[in-house]
Amino acid sequence: MGWSVIGHRRVVDDLRRSVETGALAHAYLFAGPRSIGKMEIALNLAQALNCAAPAAERPCGACRACQRIRQGKHSDVSTIALNAGERQGENRRDIRIEQIKELQQAAGLRPFEGACRVFIIDGAEHLNQDAANRLLKTLEEPPSGVYILLLATDLPRLLPTIVSRCRTHELQGVPARDIAAALVAQGQSPEQAQHLTRWSEGRIGWALRAAAGPALADARRDAMEQAIALSSQPLHDRLRSAGDFADVFARDRDAMQQWLALLTQWWRDVLLVKAERPDLVTNSDRTGMLEETAAALSTRDIATAIVSVRDAVGQLQSNVNAHLALEMLMLHLPMAQPAKAVS
Ligand SMILES: [Zn+2]
Repeated sequence: MGWSVIGHRRVVDDLRRSVETGALAHAYLFAGPRSIGKMEIALNLAQALNCAAPAAERPCGACRACQRIRQGKHSDVSTIALNAGERQGENRRDIRIEQIKELQQAAGLRPFEGACRVFIIDGAEHLNQDAANRLLKTLEEPPSGVYILLLATDLPRLLPTIVSRCRTHELQGVPARDIAAALVAQGQSPEQAQHLTRWSEGRIGWALRAAAGPALADARRDAMEQAIALSSQPLHDRLRSAGDFADVFARDRDAMQQWLALLTQWWRDVLLVKAERPDLVTNSDRTGMLEETAAALSTRDIATAIVSVRDAVGQLQSNVNAHLALEMLMLHLPMAQPAKAVS
């Protein structure tokens, strides 16, 4: 069987060699956008570390350890993440020191059923200061047979002292041909596989989930329609949207960042059509609307849109007043169709 990771060949080759030669680090950090494949790599590594097969064949995917890890049932492999209560309640979104204390307690025990203990910290950028400092102690003096795998979407938010204790892999998007092949192998038509591959922008996890059911592609379609509608909305409607988006941002930063990524993608596509490269667009299912928008605007207007969205993304990351940043964005987005003259 071997590694069941799609794409990320260099990272996988590196990890496979380390498993074969036993030259493993005690802590790894896998960084990259949401759904790019961080958890899949971590699970494969956790399997390889506990697999019963000869070193060169790990992870076999078939032995008891490999199967139990895949099912989330292995008692020596645990995941630490934001807990569900905190996702919704009281606006606190961090991994707390109590969770790291539990990790340390468990790390001090001998493995229960496997060869070693593996802790996966999903969303390591959410470690609060106390939790991060506490974790640092374990990273500085790791107990033998303990491996800590950190997954992060936002590398700059991690303490540099944490990063420096880990062997870090920054994950790039999975090549389109690999994603398309995986989708076709799962029974998608070549055309649908092509759309999902483009929309995924290298995020294999997103593509596979979108292929499994309509929810993700539907949500993306709705969000994209909202992004497109902005360009023909009168200013007062846009400003009201800015307020709504600021509320979304306060509740769910990630959701807002994803929506802004869609908005960027849309305007980049408009620019590509303007530059007569429609073959490169991500939203290949909306060529009519792209052509209309590109025809209605100058290259300069389109470039302004892209820069404005990029500025808003940067400002939201640096914690400026979200409402203000979003209002500025709404003011700067070009109007694709002239508003009706008021007479
Ligand atoms: Zn195995």
